[in-house]
Amino acid sequence: MNQDDSYDLIIVGAGIHGASLAYYSAQAGQRVLLIEESRPASGASGHAFGWINASALSGPVQQFAQSVIDDYRHLQAELPSFPLRWSGELTYGVCPENHEVPEAGLNLSALQPVTISQDEIRALEPNLAHPPSRARYTRAAGITAPSEAIECLIQAAKGFGASVVCDCAVNALLVENGQVVGVSTQAGNRYASNTVLAAGLGTLDLLARHGMHLPIRPSPAILIQFDVAHDFLNGIVSNAEMEARQAGARTLIAAEDYIDDTQENGPSAIALRALDAIRGQLNGAHSIALRSVAVGWRPIPADRLPIVGPMSEYGGLHIMSAHPGLTLAPTLARLLSQELITRIATPLLSQFRPARFHV
Ligand SMILES: Cc1cc2nc3c(=O)[nH]c(=O)nc-3n(C[C@H](O)[C@H](O)[C@H](O)COP(=O)(O)OP(=O)(O)OC[C@H]3O[C@@H](n4cnc5c(N)ncnc54)[C@H](O)[C@@H]3O)c2cc1C
Repeated sequence: MNQDDSYDLIIVGAGIHGASLAYYSAQAGQRVLLIEESRPASGASGHAFGWINASALSGPVQQFAQSVIDDYRHLQAELPSFPLRWSGELTYGVCPENHEVPEAGLNLSALQPVTISQDEIRALEPNLAHPPSRARYTRAAGITAPSEAIECLIQAAKGFGASVVCDCAVNALLVENGQVVGVSTQAGNRYASNTVLAAGLGTLDLLARHGMHLPIRPSPAILIQFDVAHDFLNGIVSNAEMEARQAGARTLIAAEDYIDDTQENGPSAIALRALDAIRGQLNGAHSIALRSVAVGWRPIPADRLPIVGPMSEYGGLHIMSAHPGLTLAPTLARLLSQELITRIATPLLSQFRPARFHV
């Protein structure tokens, strides 16, 4: 790192939130320093399933559903190598797909799930061994490769002049007269007008060092990779037994809930059950083999709403954390970046401020 530089913005953490914020801020002409204690995508983001699931946003974040689609489409247009495919998503057996959703003919929006027939299911996913009579289909469901997406955002941010430092932990905040003026790292102090903690669960440690706290909870989930001989799925298939998608010609991935660490329900046991389920549900899938199973720790705000914006304890200090982060990050990053530059608080983020936990 250049010892003499000071920045408009220091971002701590190169997960999907930090990388997205670095991209939008550098694109807008900010002098950005992104600091990552390990390598980019080494936290929850690198273990994500990769589902851009805007149609599942509910409650106060539902307002972002269309922006999520639009922002990802813009990233696709701006960054030719950005990994994103609008694959669509098929759900059955886990929701009331036979009612409560409009019929296909009534659908006006790609975000709105529609009920489709068995023939339509077969046309979308010909390798399903037992297609249900009806399923819920959402056209505007996207698939991204999280690590590649983060790398793409970081390279683009660098192209706009951002500095990116990896393998360098931020140890503490630098505070002067009630203002965070930068960070202390293992490579020395770095200074900026604004500092954003986008460090996932690492945000908690940094806040704790300065007597602050936010209720962000670690929540485990399991990502499983399978070796496959060819493409089995065209989009995302989600049902009572599996949530799976293709991840390249030789890889199928599945996400599963974490139960516990026992022999019966631990990640390895769940992975084997997922393998059985997938073999049973896909035609010609007997040769599918388990490649890897990993547990990722999701940072989830206690009220499940994003935490975005200034900490009231110190000037110049901001937080960015949300779940599902891969879905929300570009939209939240774009809004936060604009706020930091214009210094005008956007009403779109007003329900998601850290201060709501300090009343
Ligand atoms: C199995 C699984 C499947 C998922 N599937 C989906 C999905 O399909 N769609 C979706 O939208 N979401 C999904 N999620 C959730 C999503 O992964 C998270 O919401 C998101 O990745 C959180 O991103 P983040 O940038 O906040 O945190 P992280 O990705 O954890 O990034 C934080 C970064 O900060 C770094 N860091 C920490 N402390 C410091 C420090 N002191 N100094 C410097 N750097 C530091 C870490 O090394 C890390 O790289 C899934 C999660 C899991 C585990």
